[in-house]
Amino acid sequence: MGVKVTKFGGSSVADAIQIAKTRDIIVSDPDRKYIIVSAPGKRYNEDNKITDLLYLCKTHIEHNLPYEQVFQVICDRFTAMAINLGTKVDLTKEFSVIIDHLRKGASTDYIVSRGEYLNAIITAAYLSFDFVDAAAMVHFDEKGRFLSEETNESIKKELSKHETAVIPGFYGSMPNGDIKTFSRGGSDITGAIVARALEADVYENWTDVSGFLMADPKIIPDARPIKRISYKELRELSYMGASVLHEDAIYPVKIANIPINIKNTNIPDDPGTLITSQEENTDGRIVTGIAGSKDFTVIALYKNMLSSEKGFVRRVLAIFEDYDVLVEHMPSGIDTLSVVVSSSLVDGKLDDILEEISRKLQPDTIDVFENMALVATVGYGMSRRPGVSAKLFTALADAGVNIRMIDQGSSEMNIIVGVENKDLNTTIKAIYRAFVSPL
Ligand code: ASP
Repeated sequence: MGVKVTKFGGSSVADAIQIAKTRDIIVSDPDRKYIIVSAPGKRYNEDNKITDLLYLCKTHIEHNLPYEQVFQVICDRFTAMAINLGTKVDLTKEFSVIIDHLRKGASTDYIVSRGEYLNAIITAAYLSFDFVDAAAMVHFDEKGRFLSEETNESIKKELSKHETAVIPGFYGSMPNGDIKTFSRGGSDITGAIVARALEADVYENWTDVSGFLMADPKIIPDARPIKRISYKELRELSYMGASVLHEDAIYPVKIANIPINIKNTNIPDDPGTLITSQEENTDGRIVTGIAGSKDFTVIALYKNMLSSEKGFVRRVLAIFEDYDVLVEHMPSGIDTLSVVVSSSLVDGKLDDILEEISRKLQPDTIDVFENMALVATVGYGMSRRPGVSAKLFTALADAGVNIRMIDQGSSEMNIIVGVENKDLNTTIKAIYRAFVSPL
């Protein structure tokens, strides 16, 4: 028998009906023994996520406003879930402990972690699994930095005592016992570190979509699902804004070579997307996915004999570093160098940066292109395959898109083009049509 570590996101545990679906999923496979839950998410579009309500409680407290009403909404939701699932957990005791902490000035991290905590207690009772608190296994240092190896050991030790368990996601504790959370969406990380510690066969991440699609469905309404993708391809795509999974959830399972399976709680028979370390294309497809993001600025430098000037690139980069600006891409030619940055990061600083570049590096010209979008076309199938770039550029030319920048990684698994913001959707459609299917 194997082990599947199974994490359910907020929409999968939003109410009793959803939690009942998770039980069907869990009991249908005896390998699903360790379950990680998020806090209940939205039940419908206008609904509130429990975690957001908990943050709201804290904001009320900080502003000396009454928080009781908001807290009551949270209690009512959990109480309804516990009753509707037919559990006998005594939540009143739990609520009064939390209220007591709130009154005594509990930290934000403590407050917002209670959604996962209460949800795991209810789910464990409903499944007749053990409840194992993440605070005892997931460790952070006194500065709040995650301690991966200590955590790995603790999880192994603690969970070896439990045949089945439900573990709250999103948080752990610091050496003094204070609760510390990961960043938002961090239950994905808890799932990944539990999967690593248990050397799971697979890390299942259950959500409300059947995995990743080849392109944003708002742009390509019938975008095809991605059945298989490598960690690296996913990284290239999520970096461009196509994220379903917290990006810090990839590392723990990647180093342990554990595949991640993104699955849909509402359509459990859909295969979803399998993310593995396999870095080659086995099914003949050229492109795995296309993702794009708006609002970049390109600073293009031209200087005669630039390529023979030692230290030019380093000095340009040092200026951006001094201004605390992350550089996204740096396409270069023999006498040209372009620096691509997110526009929001240079807001209010661009003139100073340009002035410093002019003074220190004395380029012949500096051109600035604003309102640029970047589109990444990603796929192992593209590497060492002649004609891929030609096909992509022809598709864009035919669609009347003016390409302002091109960057191809040396692994040849991605081609990034810079286009004007207004051309983002046209660009993605044209590439999709050329490589995947006619629209
Ligand atoms: N409940 C937390 C959030 O909303 C963590 C999670 O759901 O992964 O960010």
